[in-house]
Amino acid sequence: MSNTDFAVAIEDLTVSFDGFKAIDSLTLYIDKNELRVIIGPNGAGKTTLLDLICGKTKASSGSIKFRNEELTGLDEHIRVRRGIGRKFQTPSIYENLSVFQNLEVSYPAGRSVFGALGFKRTDEVKARVQVVAEEIGLADALEMESGLLSHGQKQWLEIGMLLMQEPELLMLDEPIAGMSARERELTAELLKRICKGRSVIVIEHDMEFVKQIAHKVTVMHQGKILAEGSMEAVQADPKVIDVYLGH
Ligand code: ADP
Ligand code: MG
Repeated sequence: MSNTDFAVAIEDLTVSFDGFKAIDSLTLYIDKNELRVIIGPNGAGKTTLLDLICGKTKASSGSIKFRNEELTGLDEHIRVRRGIGRKFQTPSIYENLSVFQNLEVSYPAGRSVFGALGFKRTDEVKARVQVVAEEIGLADALEMESGLLSHGQKQWLEIGMLLMQEPELLMLDEPIAGMSARERELTAELLKRICKGRSVIVIEHDMEFVKQIAHKVTVMHQGKILAEGSMEAVQADPKVIDVYLGH
């Protein structure tokens, strides 16, 4: 298989902070249309890995290719335009705007004919908002003020804001933290819907949730990959039990 077949090809990636290697010669491939879950103990380097892919942190050495193009020299906003969407742990929605407005403002300005004029509420944008609202389960809440949404709904809205840009790679860092059991179930369904037609990387701790969504699981430890495979395979791996699941 050549590198061209992967959505993301990370090779020999290292980042050091004052000599400490938070990511240490890491190699990782993500397929097109794959939903990959990354687990591992606190401090393993999971968030740092996403920071490196989205460009928030610059690599010390190594390569990150997205659709076979090198990303490491590119600024964060250029990576967004290339199709990389990243959700951080705390939601950053506009609480005093409606759900509709939050999605509307997330429509990429350059993509609409009217974007340059500051007028975006075309039929095209409305149609896209409707599609995304259905994907994230908020189609009945479009006129609601976003600050009034539940914690889980706010997380879904932020995922929707990323989906407005039609990312080819979507990265979510602990998306179910603080959610109710029901919201977790709905988020699992949501993730299965939105991974169609794009690659998704999810960092998560909750093993019940990981079981529901995972195709393939990567276990990180001390900036490296400790194990990779099906949920069953990594759960049975003595190395994984030792550093992570045993605790
Ligand atoms: P995880 O998300 O797996 O819990 P992180 O990626 O947040 O782990 O952190 C990995 C390690 O790198 C930790 O030891 C953390 O303190 C360190 N680290 C992360 N970002 C920085 C930074 N900007 N400067 C210095 N150290 C950092
Ligand atoms: Mg983290």
